[in-house]
Amino acid sequence: MPAPDQFPAPPPARAPWRATVLTLFPELFPGPLSASLAGDALRAGLWSLETVFIRDFGIGRHRTVDDTPAGGGAGMVMRPDVLGAAIDAARAGNPEAPAIYLSPRGEPLTQATARTLADGPGVLLLAGRFEGIDQRVIEARGLREISIGDYVLAGGEVAAMVVIEAVVRLLPGVIGQIASLDEESFEDGLLEYPQYTRPREWEGRTIPEILLSGDHARIAAWRRAESERITRERRPDIWARRPKKPG
Ligand code: SAM
Repeated sequence: MPAPDQFPAPPPARAPWRATVLTLFPELFPGPLSASLAGDALRAGLWSLETVFIRDFGIGRHRTVDDTPAGGGAGMVMRPDVLGAAIDAARAGNPEAPAIYLSPRGEPLTQATARTLADGPGVLLLAGRFEGIDQRVIEARGLREISIGDYVLAGGEVAAMVVIEAVVRLLPGVIGQIASLDEESFEDGLLEYPQYTRPREWEGRTIPEILLSGDHARIAAWRRAESERITRERRPDIWARRPKKPG
């Protein structure tokens, strides 16, 4: 029997990270989040997922949630009174969590944001539909706007899943080897170096000799140089922002 102190200390007990999604399409959840790492972690109780059906807060017999845009124009806008009531109900169940509106004009989702959210108690995610939501509810409920990229989706549900998946894989206990997270793209301001596995030769292409050398210092230096080259070439914006070494 190994001595007890040979085992790493268990992660400190914490309440499951809690995601609450406000949506007109609750049936879309958990969807892809029920598979693989995120699904296993959900079933293991490392995080929890609730949906709030916005139409439950709709107006009148038809449970109306939207109306025509003030000032005219195409499409419909989600009403602030409906969304305000839905957000208040969601907050009652997940009171400490920051509230986010998925929006193409929001701040871009980054790995740093995912880390910050993973360190917190959970998140409320409002998925818009139609032409979006009334500005007043963004202001009145202090919603943080986050975008998953410079393109327009039909609704915020897939964007909410993207946020949840990016966060859940960072939660303690979800991925076994912490080191594998540390070396990923964005973690140190760089994109990841190229990865290889068996077979040694495939369709005439070989694995770079240095990776087979067993020389860990040279391998680390090669990976660092490749990360820097790829980041410089593909994402000059990230390269320009990378943390500079002191001195
Ligand atoms: N009229 C809006 C505009 O031009 O910015 C687009 C509305 S879009 C058709 C409907 C909903 O999809 C939005 O309210 C938002 O919740 C979601 N959505 C669309 N693109 C998104 C993106 N890139 N990131 C996050 N959410 C997005």
